[in-house]
Amino acid sequence: MALAQGREPLYASSVVDTDFDFIRETDRSVLDTVAFVEKGPAEMPDKVATQELFQPAYQFRATYKDSVKVDFYVSERAGTQSVAQNYVDLAAIRLGRIPHVLRKGVNRVVINEGDATAFSDIGLIVLYTKNMGKRISTHDLEETIFHESVHATWDKDHAEAPGWTGAQRNDPGFLTNYGRSHPKGEDLAETALFAVTMVHHPDRLPADVKARVQAQVPARLEYIRKLFPAGTDWHGPAGKL
Ligand SMILES: [Zn+2]
Repeated sequence: MALAQGREPLYASSVVDTDFDFIRETDRSVLDTVAFVEKGPAEMPDKVATQELFQPAYQFRATYKDSVKVDFYVSERAGTQSVAQNYVDLAAIRLGRIPHVLRKGVNRVVINEGDATAFSDIGLIVLYTKNMGKRISTHDLEETIFHESVHATWDKDHAEAPGWTGAQRNDPGFLTNYGRSHPKGEDLAETALFAVTMVHHPDRLPADVKARVQAQVPARLEYIRKLFPAGTDWHGPAGKL
C-alpha cells in the first residue's frame, strides 16, 4: 500500500539539520572510562573508500556507567595515537549523552579519516573525522549520534515492523523529506529524535513546533513513546549509575 503523501514534510532536509538543540553539550554524559587496547587491523567499513575492509586502526574500549561497553576503532590515517584518542573522546562522551535504550545497542564505533557523513548498521556507527568537526561546530554531533544509534539499535526490530508501517500509513505525512525519500531506512531515525525529545525534554521545542509535529505524525509518536516511555530514566535503570 502506498504511504500517505498528502501533506508536505515539515522539514526540507533532515532533522539533524534543524536549529533545535535536542541534546545539549551541557547534558550529563555517563561515559566512565576510555582505554587504549591496541593498534592493529580491524574491520573499518567505509562508504567512500574502495580499500580493503580490514585496515590498521587504533583500538579503544569505552565503558559507561549504565554498563554499556563500546569498542572504538580509529583509522591509522587520522594521525598519532593521541589524535586518535581525541576523536574517541569527542565521540564517546557524546554517545554517553543519548538515552540508554539507544546506547545499549551500539557495540562498535568506527572513525574514518574524511568528511563523509555518518552511517550505520546493526550495532555499528561509522563517523568521519572532518564531518565530526563540522557537526561539533554546529552542536549537532549529539543529534547525529542519536540518529545513527536508532539505526544501530531500533531499525532491526522496528523500521519495518507492522506497528510502525501501520503508523506511517495512518499519519497525515512525514516529518522530513529525508524520511519521505527513505521510508524504510530513515523515517524511524528521523522521527525518533522529535518523539523522544517531546516526551523527555518537551521544554526544548517551541509549542507551535510540537503542535505541528503532533498533527503530522501522531501514530508514529505513539509508537516511539512505547519504546522509551515517559518516566523511564534517560540513562537507564536507576541504581546502576
Ligand atoms: Zn540515517
